[in-house]
Amino acid sequence: MPLPHDSTLGVFGGGQLGRMFANAAKQLGYRVHVYCPEADCPASQLADRHTVADYHDFQAIAQFAQSIDAATLEFENVPVAAAEAAAHYVPVRPAGEVLYTVQDRSREKGFLVAAGIPATPYRNVRSLDDLHRAIDQLEAPAVLKTTKFGYDGKGQTIVETADDAERAWRYLGGHKCVLEKFIDFRCEISVLVARDVDGNMQTFGPVENAHANHVLDVSVHPASSSEPTARASHEAARKIAVELDLVGLACVEFFETSAGDVLVNEIAPRPHNSGHLTIEACTTSQFAQQARAVAGMELGEMTAHEPAAMANLLGDRWAAGEPDWAVLKRDFPQVHLHLYGKRTARPGRKMGHLTVVAESPQEAERLVRSARDAVTRG
Ligand code: AMP
Repeated sequence: MPLPHDSTLGVFGGGQLGRMFANAAKQLGYRVHVYCPEADCPASQLADRHTVADYHDFQAIAQFAQSIDAATLEFENVPVAAAEAAAHYVPVRPAGEVLYTVQDRSREKGFLVAAGIPATPYRNVRSLDDLHRAIDQLEAPAVLKTTKFGYDGKGQTIVETADDAERAWRYLGGHKCVLEKFIDFRCEISVLVARDVDGNMQTFGPVENAHANHVLDVSVHPASSSEPTARASHEAARKIAVELDLVGLACVEFFETSAGDVLVNEIAPRPHNSGHLTIEACTTSQFAQQARAVAGMELGEMTAHEPAAMANLLGDRWAAGEPDWAVLKRDFPQVHLHLYGKRTARPGRKMGHLTVVAESPQEAERLVRSARDAVTRG
């Protein structure tokens, strides 16, 4: 039975993903309680309640959990112990076990191998000796990544040649790492998968993702992938959701090779930046699917009506002042503006995004990029 519509959904994390989740949950009639250490975070501005406390404050977590009917999260580095503490009182979707698997790259890759899902070839690296051995086996160039807390290109470095090993090992601070084969990919794609309490699933994608300085820049749906490649990416995402026993929403990021193979790069058990365009492109957005799954509702339809594209608005675009939003109304009336309510714009900080639906993915991409350039001053 789904939670009655005035129940409260709790969310660990208060960034833009939590904000858009709160919006979707409230549209479905739920109340939202945000747990985030930061006052006036993007999600709290839309939520009914906000607990400002640390993720290791177990007394605060117990109080939070007793005030809600189900919990979810908007970033995967919520401590497993926090998720498990909340699970004493309410269902936590996705469960702490899912976080345990994906918080550590080595564990995540071990999971993929055990599940028979094609992923980037890798070796575990615990020492400089290990690294030398791994380079022998995988061959340079390769990518060395810390097992924990890496994101947006942080905590990783390319090992160009075997002679580069010591520099790379020291650069990442001698922490536990994985060495990945360098994939000369054709493109990067992602697939969203939502799974409800009964195991029913909905998938969306693949979305094609372009990065700038290791940060997602522009996403386009549908990707330019062939039909068999798209099917393989959906199958992998569904298998991952089943094997993780996911309840909620996840995004699976892949490298697509020129041969059309898809290799899993990363799993994010939460809404993802590349899925923002589902707000305008689909009947049920990624955030609405998350709210539905968490509340025990039936999932909604997640097919896209039209091609769409999304462009991130990073703080760099505020360098010469607030972008000129009036240009959108005048020259790009079909472009949707989303701002996250962050007071200070810093370079690299995700401040908002633009989305447009159009007749073709190429046209959507052209429009969203042009609109972004047009609003940027200076
Ligand atoms: P990640 O933090 O693992 O998502 O990596 C950030 C970005 O670095 C990816 O989106 C890729 O553009 C690039 N990258 C990461 N791993 C590899 C790899 N094994 N081969 C080639 N490029 C990679």
